[in-house]
Amino acid sequence: MIVVMLPTATEEQTEGVVGQVRERGLQVHISRGERCTVIGVVGNTAEIDPDDLAALPGVDRVVRVMKPYRLAHREARPEGTRVTVRWEGGSLTVGGREIVLAAGPCAVEDEGSLMETARAVGRAGAAMLRGGAFKPRTSPYSFQGLGHEGLLMLARARRETGLPVVTEVMAPEQVAVVATYADMLQIGTRNMFNYPLLRAVGRTRCPVLLKRGMMATIEEWLLAAEYILAGGNPNVILCERGIRTFEGYTRNTLDLSAVPVVKSLSHLPVWVDPSHGTGRAELVIPMARAAIAAGADGLLVEVHGSPVTARSDGSQSLTPEQFGRLVEECRSVAEALGRGLANAGARGVTAREAAS
Ligand code: PEP
Ligand code: MN
Repeated sequence: MIVVMLPTATEEQTEGVVGQVRERGLQVHISRGERCTVIGVVGNTAEIDPDDLAALPGVDRVVRVMKPYRLAHREARPEGTRVTVRWEGGSLTVGGREIVLAAGPCAVEDEGSLMETARAVGRAGAAMLRGGAFKPRTSPYSFQGLGHEGLLMLARARRETGLPVVTEVMAPEQVAVVATYADMLQIGTRNMFNYPLLRAVGRTRCPVLLKRGMMATIEEWLLAAEYILAGGNPNVILCERGIRTFEGYTRNTLDLSAVPVVKSLSHLPVWVDPSHGTGRAELVIPMARAAIAAGADGLLVEVHGSPVTARSDGSQSLTPEQFGRLVEECRSVAEALGRGLANAGARGVTAREAAS
């Protein structure tokens, strides 16, 4: 960290900054230039808030040299992280050559429709099943999800199709029960800043899909990942799902540039959610293709047997048939880049079909 003093700063003001830095157990290197003095701060600067130093008299500005996240930083694992998803029926790697497609309804609505959608997405080429049991809805009067019942249905759909399950956890006290049923815990956009929840999933070893806060900078998102990693859980996957901008045509603005940015800053795998990222079904396939082209390691896609009657997010949900098209188009893009699609779903469905 570097503190640049104003050209008008007095010797006492420079000494004031040096004293503050030393009080925090850090060392200083002072360079006295012709126009101004620059103080280099050496040591573990992660614990210092640059704004605290910037507020001291005589300070012009404070510049961070090191990123404030250490464990999430690419330097911590230059070769990149691979997260293994394990369940009764097998295992799946996220962050390797193969791209993982997770698909299913926004919310688990009832067992019959969940089963039907799970079978359809598995047959089409999904490697994981998504579906919310605990739903974070903007209005308290909207469908809130089936809760524990929904988790049981997801577990039965996994047994039936062989697809591992990703589902959202909304509160620290839900982590234990959701982790019993889920193979990957989803932290939604609204909870990216929920630090007690991040700490709670950090105490598990379950893979965590950490969605970007809709108003979060990339640095804030990586610091949220840092909470989970610092808690001892190395199995973190980041998911870009769109951010709020002035544009009203789409539900969110899908920030696909975040994919290569995060890949250069961090070693963690990155997914993209083109459903919440656009809010419009007709944009999901083009943005899915673009996400793979940008380097995404996986996609989270909403699929519903009857989008017009869905209890949530029907306007952005694909039909199973449209999802089949998405898989084929994404496969072509992946192959053009020397990658492929993970096929745990296909294996799971084959196993089920072989058994029947
Ligand atoms: C979801 O994927 O079900 C969801 C609620 O997404 P987000 O948190 O990105 O809005
Ligand atoms: Mn949704």
